Amino acid sequence: MGMFNFFDTHCHIHEPDFPLPAKEALERANNAGVSKLMCVGTSVEDSKNAIKFAEKNNNIWVSAGVHPHAAKDLRSETSLAEFALLIKNKKVKAIGECGLDYFYNHTSKEDQEYALRKQFELAVEYDLPMIFHVREAFDDFWKIYDDYPKVAGVIHSFTATKKELSEALARGLFIGLNGIMTFTKIKEQLDAAREVPLTKLVLETDAPFLTPNPLRGKINEPKNVVLVGDFLSQLRGEHLEQLAIQTTKNAEGLFKV
Ligand SMILES: [Zn+2]
Repeated sequence: MGMFNFFDTHCHIHEPDFPLPAKEALERANNAGVSKLMCVGTSVEDSKNAIKFAEKNNNIWVSAGVHPHAAKDLRSETSLAEFALLIKNKKVKAIGECGLDYFYNHTSKEDQEYALRKQFELAVEYDLPMIFHVREAFDDFWKIYDDYPKVAGVIHSFTATKKELSEALARGLFIGLNGIMTFTKIKEQLDAAREVPLTKLVLETDAPFLTPNPLRGKINEPKNVVLVGDFLSQLRGEHLEQLAIQTTKNAEGLFKV
């Protein structure tokens, strides 16, 4: 594989329990051409960690967010205020990951919707794009999204079908694809991945999760976004160079970095 510039738009390597030495993972990423990274927060506390981590590293930015699993975080006025303050940090270029997860239902639908709406309001106030996590909840998600129609963003870890893809594209959203594509057996997921317009596609690892083939079983890290790109370039019949250039440009445009 030639060396091209990639942007890992979704990773969690800032977490204190990330199972690899982060500094070495960053070196490997740079050596593989993965020169830009978005560290994605999943709670108020975790977003703070992401900021601390990004402040020590160039070319790493933060999406501050509260995942549906942590939705209760924003029910307290104090932690909502604390979260709103984080958004003002220079490293914060997006809000999320946030959304709805009806697969796990770790938190009630009401708490999830409340947390999501609070984050939409902040995105509008600070004119930031959002990183969405939506699992088995698209119908409710679109209803909420359509109350904030101007918000830009990406549906991260997209594994849905052409139907949800066209709903997302109609709203101008980007589609984030990751290692799942390299090992899924679900034809509808690959059909949708093939149809994402290149100008709407961004790449991600979701490290340390979702390690792509052929490294299944290992801990995922940002360098592996190249494997995702390589797989997609073959699936979609595009040159890897073209895919790398355009997806990096898409991410830079979305996050304004
Ligand atoms: Zn994630």
